[in-house]
Amino acid sequence: MQELTIYLASPRGFCAGVTNAIKIVNDTLLQYGAPVYVRHEIVHNKHIINELKSKGVIFIEDFQEITDKSRPVIISAHGVGEPIFNEALELGLILIDATCPLVKKVHKHIRQYASYENEIIVIGKKNHIEVIGTIGQIPQYKKIYHISNITEAKDLKIIDPKKVSFVTQTTLSVDETKEITDYLIKTYPDISYQKDICFATTQRQSAIKKLASLTNNIIVVGSQNSSNSKSLQKTAILAGATNTILIDDSSEINWTDYKSVDSIGITAGASAPEHLIEEILKEAQNCYKKINILNVKI
Ligand code: SF4
Repeated sequence: MQELTIYLASPRGFCAGVTNAIKIVNDTLLQYGAPVYVRHEIVHNKHIINELKSKGVIFIEDFQEITDKSRPVIISAHGVGEPIFNEALELGLILIDATCPLVKKVHKHIRQYASYENEIIVIGKKNHIEVIGTIGQIPQYKKIYHISNITEAKDLKIIDPKKVSFVTQTTLSVDETKEITDYLIKTYPDISYQKDICFATTQRQSAIKKLASLTNNIIVVGSQNSSNSKSLQKTAILAGATNTILIDDSSEINWTDYKSVDSIGITAGASAPEHLIEEILKEAQNCYKKINILNVKI
């Protein structure tokens, strides 16, 4: 293969919330020693999870799985609802909260809207851990509707359009969500809301759009269960990139698929570590006579 230009998105990879959550786990290991429990994957990335498992972290989905209740338990970056905190309290667990502060902001918003007794629309993926945690802030509240697409938005039966609010998951595709939020704002002019898709998600999506304006071939590094990584891939497709893949690491790249292209764009989801990108660049260097690496900043 001849010459390849690689456009590297900037920003890409770890966001502050992910860096902080991983630090909390490592600090807890240092302070308490292994094993340490984490409720749910601390962040949605296979490599991070395997690395932490090798250090003595035990990932659980339910506190009942804990065999030694004297060990600390960490709440993942995605956050949890009130019933989970209550359960931990009842069980007398040493609970450490690694919820991203930007997810906590959404928790604050939904509690605020509930205090106004508004009907609340939650826009987010079905069964996503963050959405479950957000709805779980107001577990007894009845006037709450969870939607994940425009059809469900159009099917809503709002009782009082003057008292309605929406919140969103932090890691959605900005462009896809816009269709839903535009519809809600137009249909319910008094609706209250705040920008809940976080700046890290928004910025990484802006960067991938720039990549899509330069090349059709885009590689997103991130795990399949990572919402922000999947949103990056969706954003690239919506921006016109015709050949887009989401991969955990370089082992999933078949370089012969790229033998007739002269450029590739690469980015990483907010939970994917930078060394995975470095490994891809190394492999590319072995496959091509010459590669040019260009940083594409927003
Ligand atoms: Fe926090 Fe956003 Fe990162 Fe999620 S993607 S951990 S909400 S900064």
